[in-house]
Amino acid sequence: MKIEDKLKAVIRDVLDFPKPGIVFKDITPILKDSVLCREVVETFVERLSPFEIEAVAGIESRGFLFGMMLANKLDIPFIPIRKQGKLPYKTVSHSYDLEYGSATIEVHEDALAPGTKVLVHDDLLATGGTVVATSNLIKSLGGEVVGYSFLISLDFLNGRSRLKSFSEEVVSLVSY
Ligand code: AMP
Repeated sequence: MKIEDKLKAVIRDVLDFPKPGIVFKDITPILKDSVLCREVVETFVERLSPFEIEAVAGIESRGFLFGMMLANKLDIPFIPIRKQGKLPYKTVSHSYDLEYGSATIEVHEDALAPGTKVLVHDDLLATGGTVVATSNLIKSLGGEVVGYSFLISLDFLNGRSRLKSFSEEVVSLVSY
């Protein structure tokens, strides 16, 4: 069975979470299957092999799960991107607009050296707002975004088109 089919078989749709009208893609059933988790990481490694990646930036909090495993498998650093006020050391912030209101994300100021080639990872690409903000944060530290990886891409929201100005390289294992 293809990895996309294996993942689709276990990803759970939760209706009206966290608010009415949202169909939440719950990836926690994947985490119960260690063999499938390994296959996910190995597939990312294989599909990302053409690209030179020096660090993986994972977005809080579901982006930490496979982002950290992937960085460790590639033997490169993992950079946690967190919501405002969570990181203990000196931080650099970036604020961005949401549908209603705004949000701020942060990274430690010494998280990467200027010129570092960074892969941005999250569990799911929706509108792309979160990854665009993360990409701007990486750039403000002098890093270079060389690609993106997601378990899931909601293609109908067209988030991919917003990433093009940073990198054309987008790997996602499951599309809806
Ligand atoms: P966006 O900034 O619109 O691309 O939203 C991406 C972020 O929101 C990711 O961190 C996802 O985990 C989360 N997210 C958005 N929509 C969903 C959804 N339908 N199911 C699960 N997570 C979602």
